Amino acid sequence: MHFDIRRVAAYVRRADTEELLDRVTVYREGMEPAALDLMEGELDRRGVTRADIADHDEARRATALILPDGTAARCSFCDRPAARRGWGWHRLWGRLPVFPRVFLRCEAHGGKGGG
Ligand SMILES: [Zn+2]
Repeated sequence: MHFDIRRVAAYVRRADTEELLDRVTVYREGMEPAALDLMEGELDRRGVTRADIADHDEARRATALILPDGTAARCSFCDRPAARRGWGWHRLWGRLPVFPRVFLRCEAHGGKGGG
């Protein structure tokens, strides 16, 4: 994908702090250095310290599925790091089960408990 610094800057300003924390920690390897600078600048502006970032990194790595490249596997349903891998049905138009596939789920999408 084409890297557009203005779009990244606009995204960074409206992103949740949690999203920014995920990107500068468990998704760090996949990020453009310029984008990381913007995200770290924004976190700093929001009063998030280096220690807060390190704590977030540690908490995520304790639960997330980490890929061989060192980044976290992404949830199949959102951008959070996935905590669990499991089988489910791929659904056509979100309704008709078509074929079973592996889904990655964060804690908000059934990564803990149910399924
Ligand atoms: Zn999710």
